[in-house]
Amino acid sequence: MSWYRDFFDALENIHSNNRFLASFYLELDLVSKFLDDEKGLSNEIRHPLSKGGILVSDIDFEKMLERIKNLYPNISNSQSEEFRALEIWRNLLDVAFESFDDNERKYVAILPVSKVVPKYFLLEHIKMLTAIGNPSKQREKSLFIFSIGPVQSFITQARKTQDLYLGSFMLSYFTFLAARQIIENYGPTSLIYPDLYGQPLVDWYLKNKGVNIKNSNNEDILLPTITNRFVAVLNTTNETEISGLVKNIEQSIKNEIEKAKNIIFKELKIDANINQIVDFPQIYWASIPWIRDDQDILENVSSFFSSEKLQTLLKPIEDIYKKNPASLYHIFYTALEKSIGARKNLRDFIQIEEEGRKCSICGERNVVFFKETKNKQRFTPYNKDAVDLTDKNVEKYISDGEGLCVLCFLKRAFDIYLKKFVSDVFEGLSFPSTAEVASADFKEKAIRYANEEFKEFVNKFISDTKKYHLKTKPLPKISDIVEPNLEGFWFYEENLNEITFKKENIDTSPENIKYIRLLYDRIKDKAGKPKPYYAVFHLDGDKMGDWLAGEHLQGIKYSCNSKFWERLPEDFRKDLEKAFKKGVLTPIVHSSISTALRNYTLEFVRNIVEKEHLGKLVYAGADDVFAFVNLSDIFDVMEKLRWAFSGHIYVKSGKTFVDLENKSGFILKDGVYYLSMGDEASCSMGVVIAHYKEPLKIVLDKVFEMEKLAKKSGRNRFSIALLKKSGESEIAISPWLTDNHLITRTLKALKDDMNSDNERYISDSFIQKFNEEFFLMKKESLEQGIVETELERLIRRAYNSKVKEEKQQKEEFINKFLKNINVILDENLGNIDNFINLLKIASFTNRGY
Ligand SMILES: [Zn+2]
Repeated sequence: MSWYRDFFDALENIHSNNRFLASFYLELDLVSKFLDDEKGLSNEIRHPLSKGGILVSDIDFEKMLERIKNLYPNISNSQSEEFRALEIWRNLLDVAFESFDDNERKYVAILPVSKVVPKYFLLEHIKMLTAIGNPSKQREKSLFIFSIGPVQSFITQARKTQDLYLGSFMLSYFTFLAARQIIENYGPTSLIYPDLYGQPLVDWYLKNKGVNIKNSNNEDILLPTITNRFVAVLNTTNETEISGLVKNIEQSIKNEIEKAKNIIFKELKIDANINQIVDFPQIYWASIPWIRDDQDILENVSSFFSSEKLQTLLKPIEDIYKKNPASLYHIFYTALEKSIGARKNLRDFIQIEEEGRKCSICGERNVVFFKETKNKQRFTPYNKDAVDLTDKNVEKYISDGEGLCVLCFLKRAFDIYLKKFVSDVFEGLSFPSTAEVASADFKEKAIRYANEEFKEFVNKFISDTKKYHLKTKPLPKISDIVEPNLEGFWFYEENLNEITFKKENIDTSPENIKYIRLLYDRIKDKAGKPKPYYAVFHLDGDKMGDWLAGEHLQGIKYSCNSKFWERLPEDFRKDLEKAFKKGVLTPIVHSSISTALRNYTLEFVRNIVEKEHLGKLVYAGADDVFAFVNLSDIFDVMEKLRWAFSGHIYVKSGKTFVDLENKSGFILKDGVYYLSMGDEASCSMGVVIAHYKEPLKIVLDKVFEMEKLAKKSGRNRFSIALLKKSGESEIAISPWLTDNHLITRTLKALKDDMNSDNERYISDSFIQKFNEEFFLMKKESLEQGIVETELERLIRRAYNSKVKEEKQQKEEFINKFLKNINVILDENLGNIDNFINLLKIASFTNRGY
């Protein structure tokens, strides 16, 4: 049956009775004997993944559901049932937002469909009803899991930030191509993880198809947000159909790569017979029949569990599993994970031993393209068939001295394909370079304090040199004020000389360079110099595998309306709690996780990194965020991203505020509640601070290393590496929170108080002195009191003031500083080196050299 028939059926059941809902929601089924006792229950919203929730007194959710049921028939007037379904699916929430008043609008996105188990919300509910199908009709369903890789090695093989970005985009795009086959055959509602609603690539696909979409911005497609893995419910149990689907997926990805190759070669006028095999991406998948009305479905999973284990899993649901397939989801999903895990282990790695010089980006495959002005002998004797691009006009895609394999060249030039076949928003694509990120706060400052000089410098530079790569896209937050934008690289004094100009292929006279330097000095007099360091980070949700396996769910008590729960007979409650200590993993739990992560990346992350701060996202999908940030905003961005993940924020007029008191699991953003992962969830972050000239591959590998270190040290923390140009490095690890103190905020306060540009400051030289003394003290046992006293003595000596002041003002300043530093010290008494490194890093973000 077509998915949209199930979809319309689901819409008819938006507002249905508990008996009907019980065949989808296990919790309801378990308490079904008591369902008539709904009278007098208060309106409550439960958070599906934590103990949180919201009490609502003045809103009638049933009336809202009834109104939405009346709204949907007017959303689409398409003649095609499929289009009507797609338009309603995509626009229902937006239409509902418009048609309720401020008070009701708050709850539209978290409108519970059952008063008794108020943790399943409108859109997830519709998705579930469609995916599982009406129990009164014949159903055939399979669970399907799909992933592509490799991820880390593919994206870190990068020499420029744009390689990293396009690598991430390709992974996201190829996974989307796979998902597209699923959407076309089984509808967008069949994707349980991740959630496709509002995803830029999905909106783009629907628009191209001719589907009307509300509130969608074409530019959003630039940010890859589709994860490299998905779980879907397919409307079939036919093995041939499913393996045919996978063949189509593989073929469509292969075709796309072939097409991209042809387009790129044609555009760059490369006429050569290239036969290097592109063994990318690797595809893994598995599927298991899950619902089939006519046979014992458990046979399909029995090989994944011992019979004892299976009996234990079935025990609590033995009375209901035959008629309620949702109750078996836990078992089937576990089997599915085991199945794909086994396939990944089975994959043969074909090692192709090629002789010859290896690619400058990946170092794995042979050079197929190269550009070399000075010494062609570097390539030609070793790679006889390699294509020399030196005289071609392709300087945007290959630098002098680079030799690239086919895949890395495709990655480099993939924007040519994207702009021709995906969207014109890729026209003139330029991802900010590391220098652009590092210099962004300087540009802001220069415009504020030396606007005339800044403009003159930029205009002179551009008019003199007229090179395409001199104009580049700035960080989004300053894109309005720096137009035209001169690449950040040219704001570093060390690059304003004849040698660099020549190396960058810029034709200009020594007199011009002299004049440009003169103009530069004028900016410097008023606005100082740019910091040469930037930050890059990778955030990753903690224990996501366990979350998806249902390990972190709350007991069944937290699923129910609290009054309803109290009314249940005590023995019955006890039995239930015993049988479902961990709560129950049903498809809608996955759906809730998907919605929470979708909200995180689409509603919050982008705002925080690109609108509120000087940052640029590379990728933001599900629990995974990769971004570049200017040093001046590093602690703010880290802090907001961490607490947005677990719902501990609110957003007012576009600004994000951390609110640790909010344990509801819902985030209020400009008058609308959004589901988050909730209080029990956490994430870890790896951060690297590096010089803009540091080879990117080293930086990216370090970021992953730091992220793993944060996880290994106990998760729910961050780990920072400062890579100095001198080759030295400092590493520090910290939890996000200690005794209700936000470590990021404390570090930021310390950093500000060590800033020598301010009227009063503590010279950071005390850190070095403390380090030296501590080194001598190290062998003896350290008492907190002694350390604190010594620290205070050194800090008092490091105090500086440029103004006349009362003694009291000085005391206040020093005491505040001491209070903050003791927060960090308390957390690190067992590891003073880590304490010192945290301080060094905080202070370094001021100066950046
Ligand atoms: Zn390569």
